[in-house]
Amino acid sequence: MLGAGTAGTMIVNKLSRRLDKFEWDITVVDRDDVHPYQPGYLFLPFGSYTPEQINRTCRSLLPKGIDFLIGEVDKVDAATDTVTLADGRTLAYDYLVIASGTSPRPDQTPGMLGPEWRRSIFDFYTFEGAKALAAALKEFDHGRLVVHITDMPIKCPVAPLEFTFLAEAWLREKGLRDRVELVYVTPLPGAFTKPVASERLGSMLEERKIMVESDFLVEHIDAETKTLVSYDEREVPFDLLVTVPLNMGADFVARSGLGDELNYVPVDKHTLQSKAFENIFAVGDSSDIPTSKAGSVAHFSVEVFVDNFLQLIDGNPMTGSFDGHANCFIESGDGKGLLIDFNYETEPLTGTYPLPLAGPLALLKETRLNHLGKLAFRWIYWNVLLPGRPLPLPAHMSMRGKTAATTHPKEDVTDARHHTRRTPDPGQRRRVPDRSD
Ligand SMILES: Cc1cc2nc3c(=O)[nH]c(=O)nc-3n(C[C@H](O)[C@H](O)[C@H](O)COP(=O)(O)OP(=O)(O)OC[C@H]3O[C@@H](n4cnc5c(N)ncnc54)[C@H](O)[C@@H]3O)c2cc1C
Repeated sequence: MLGAGTAGTMIVNKLSRRLDKFEWDITVVDRDDVHPYQPGYLFLPFGSYTPEQINRTCRSLLPKGIDFLIGEVDKVDAATDTVTLADGRTLAYDYLVIASGTSPRPDQTPGMLGPEWRRSIFDFYTFEGAKALAAALKEFDHGRLVVHITDMPIKCPVAPLEFTFLAEAWLREKGLRDRVELVYVTPLPGAFTKPVASERLGSMLEERKIMVESDFLVEHIDAETKTLVSYDEREVPFDLLVTVPLNMGADFVARSGLGDELNYVPVDKHTLQSKAFENIFAVGDSSDIPTSKAGSVAHFSVEVFVDNFLQLIDGNPMTGSFDGHANCFIESGDGKGLLIDFNYETEPLTGTYPLPLAGPLALLKETRLNHLGKLAFRWIYWNVLLPGRPLPLPAHMSMRGKTAATTHPKEDVTDARHHTRRTPDPGQRRRVPDRSD
């Protein structure tokens, strides 16, 4: 198992109970012994979570009796079924699960890691970034706050929206809202990847007087003038930039010849089995499946993967088929939140979850209960999901409780799509007006 994050830990806890200990050895490799609760990074900048509530050791979350190695994975040699670590150790495998996730890569955008990095340019997709942003927000009392997504796909694609809603509410609470201009800059044509949700979330940005700069593909950041510059030469100035850098799979995936151009492992989207090698699987954010990169997807897909894997090693066909099921709470500020539930085929719809009428959670609607659900999720993560205990929610998405809507397949921008880097358009240079314009 390469990676002891969300997917790796769940799989190992489930498999260690069901595999014959005399026949199977499980080895887990991770570069360090820190397991972060990544959804907590959203709350760190606003001081509502402390760093201590976010990190635990990987070892404490893994079952006894498995080998946990700390080391950087350097390369997989699929021809000889071996993994090499950066310190030279070599591990042989019969089956390999890649669960090395995806990481923000500020180095991929010219100017992002320049002199303004963590001075006026921040990210909250890392522990260090979220902590640095918390300190910067304490000092920020006027100007232009720009929240920016570099390119899709990113993990938790709703997180930048949530950050924007929380920042807006936080500024209001501090009496600073009328001194701060909020701008949401996205490579997508709207607020989100799916049409019904995009419309709902887009109108929430509008109600909060947050400007949206859509279809914006950043080419570079001019650190001197504090400006985002796009391939089509639009400019967005900022005083404080909160960016989500390009997300990429692990470099060892590329070095091993197992990845696509963003280092994601091409797999069968229903079984998560590598398209190139039958004894390799990629689970969680490391694969190229066309659904959100999210802990919920890791959870639902692990349920299918584990049963399939046990069938496979017994010499039977894998009968489980993952449907791309994802659900995400969306914090909207003022102690409220929304919930979305969808899969490969069905976009987020309105209605109730998990039960028809009774809910108790409302889909695509701002409620207090959805916010409380998001907060409760941290406990569920540590105590139910990671230990591999059963959660009474079906792995497959259900239409029960959902209000059917006409789907607009042409408008659906799947989470797995990413834009091809474009050369600049010779068109007009357009500048997003600032307060003085
Ligand atoms: C700000 C934020 C908010 C989020 N909010 C939500 C949410 O509300 N709901 C939700 O469902 N999801 C949310 N997510 C997404 C969720 O955290 C991830 O989708 C999930 O953790 C993916 O699990 P994974 O096992 O695929 O990857 P990870 O949990 O990231 O684990 C990957 C592991 O691989 C290890 N690794 C990588 N490369 C190497 C290497 N070369 N050698 C050794 N080890 C390596 C890493 O150290 C890491 O431990 C959020 C994410 C962020 C950043």
